[in-house]
Amino acid sequence: MKTNIKVRLFSSQTLSTDTLWQPDDRQIHYLLNVLRLNVGDEIKIFDGQSGEYIGQIYAIGKKNCSVKIMQKIREMEHSPDLWLLFAPVKKDKTDFIIAGATELGVSRILPTMTERTICERVNKERFEAQVIEAAEQCRRLDIPQVSNPQPLEKILQTWPQDRMLFFMDETGSGGDICNIFQNTPNTKVAVLVGPEGGFSEKELALLRKQSFTKAVSMGKRILRAETAVLAALSCWQAICGDWNERKSK
Ligand code: SAM
Repeated sequence: MKTNIKVRLFSSQTLSTDTLWQPDDRQIHYLLNVLRLNVGDEIKIFDGQSGEYIGQIYAIGKKNCSVKIMQKIREMEHSPDLWLLFAPVKKDKTDFIIAGATELGVSRILPTMTERTICERVNKERFEAQVIEAAEQCRRLDIPQVSNPQPLEKILQTWPQDRMLFFMDETGSGGDICNIFQNTPNTKVAVLVGPEGGFSEKELALLRKQSFTKAVSMGKRILRAETAVLAALSCWQAICGDWNERKSK
């Protein structure tokens, strides 16, 4: 496999060898005007469905270009079925959460509005562009699905019963994260992290009474929301996910 090709782009169209792929306008600008690539230059492309390929710039027009899909270099691999629910925080910290969660292999991101969520507007399109950029950079082969923001209560009302929801409970009444993760056989799971102001008492009571939830503690120190997201996802990947060679076979 050629490893010196640095450019790696996501294709929303499913790819196959010996076909021509049309980058979108943003990608054409990047390839031609930023990287100044020419006919014959090679890039990597993945489509989130069939795997990853080497493509070669085939033709360049005034404002377009086509790429010939030459060779498949990686078979498709899906990330674990791990969802992240988080209460959006300030823009730059939310950006950090979106990129970090993508790199940590979540399969779906659900912005969750709670009583103490302080954030202007949740821009789903912005999140969708960010997960693609993070996936291109971290070499994952699929793209997390980004959901529309919804209130926590509504999410719980329609929650799939076969999916375990671990909520990060900073009050100290949650169970030990390693113990809980190690002893939960579910392969369909989700992690929920609250806002800077924490969950309200009402929200904690609502979460605790659900049959599909478990309260999880990450020690005595209070973590910032963005720290808590990365810590919880990292623990799950290390104990149950694809960081754990044994588990991910
Ligand atoms: N305002 C809260 C307080 O002072 O207690 C802190 C909220 S914390 C900034 C944001 C979220 O991160 C919490 O709602 C929780 O989901 C998670 N979190 C932070 N520290 C945690 C811990 N030690 N254990 C479990 N979850 C934690």
